[in-house]
Amino acid sequence: MRIQAALVEAPGGPFTLHSLHLDAPRPDEILVRITATGICHTDLAMRQVWPRERLPMVLGHEGAGVVEAVGDAVTTVAPGDAVCLTYRSCGACDPCTTGGPAYCEQSGALNALGSRPDGSTTLSHTDGTPAYGSFFGQSAFATHCLTTASNTVKVPADLPPTLVAPLGCSIQTGVGTVQNVLRPSPGTTLAVFGAGSVGLSALMAAVADDHTVIVIEPLAARRALAKELGAAAVIDPTAEEEVAAAVRDLTHGGAQYAIDTTGRPAVVSQAVGALRRRGTLALVGLGSAQFDTMPVLTKGLTLRGVTEGDALPAVTIPHLISLHRQGKLPLEKLITAFPFTDIEAAAEASLAGRVVKPVLTLA
Ligand SMILES: [Zn+2]
Ligand SMILES: [Zn+2]
Repeated sequence: MRIQAALVEAPGGPFTLHSLHLDAPRPDEILVRITATGICHTDLAMRQVWPRERLPMVLGHEGAGVVEAVGDAVTTVAPGDAVCLTYRSCGACDPCTTGGPAYCEQSGALNALGSRPDGSTTLSHTDGTPAYGSFFGQSAFATHCLTTASNTVKVPADLPPTLVAPLGCSIQTGVGTVQNVLRPSPGTTLAVFGAGSVGLSALMAAVADDHTVIVIEPLAARRALAKELGAAAVIDPTAEEEVAAAVRDLTHGGAQYAIDTTGRPAVVSQAVGALRRRGTLALVGLGSAQFDTMPVLTKGLTLRGVTEGDALPAVTIPHLISLHRQGKLPLEKLITAFPFTDIEAAAEASLAGRVVKPVLTLA
């Protein structure tokens, strides 16, 4: 079928809208009409570094939509179902069969090849030459995409698609890092470095469970939003020379838990310094962080890398919706909607920090 998609045509290049051909679903595939799609920092990082030989590429991995057709082998969703799209996993490897599909051994082939695992592309140009996609098993910067059962979760039809879209990556990453991974003990403090959509989701989850949260964020508007969402204290790292010492002062010796959402060397060092002895740091941000291991050793810290908040999508996404309906996850405060055709403006607003979570809407 003919679809519209936002292509990256050159490394670091802008998103440009084009007409493409999308295959009919294979037996294990699901055709989804996209109704909204979030822009995640991973999309913007990948368009800088995506291999030139696999361009043009359709990114986008926070899709919300409606099922239009399913292959014969699909039993989990049916045409007409509203769905949230998320990351793909194989369901058969050791991590997948022991509760850790975010660490699937086939993760690279299923989410970041630009094609199906067998090398075929779901997308092609109108002249028949391949276009790359299948990003996180979706490529949701498009009017339609092909997904599979592991990354397609049915959601209630009454939820606005703009709220559904980011659940499948940034929101489940932030909430899951707190509720699945760190699981703070009562009466402890969490320091969140970076108040983007992941950091603010972590904040909301921790506040919902009555933990004390300190947020470290250079942008004033995001610090204000963090306060509104329940942060006990906010720190401007551009005004505070000793961020780690400031956190230790506020917590009488250091936070028990910290989350780095930035991947930046200086910030990870601050997070290490802000922790109390035997504290735990969750590393969530992509980056090339380097830090002194001495305080990690002497304080007996635990460092834990986290992908997708250890989410089990079929369990986690309904849980996030339940939290939202209880008023404990007011994620609408993070979202700014843009028409799909304004994708490049939305990306620029995100990179400039003018919006927290841009979500593209499709008619
Ligand atoms: Zn993402
Ligand atoms: Zn697997």
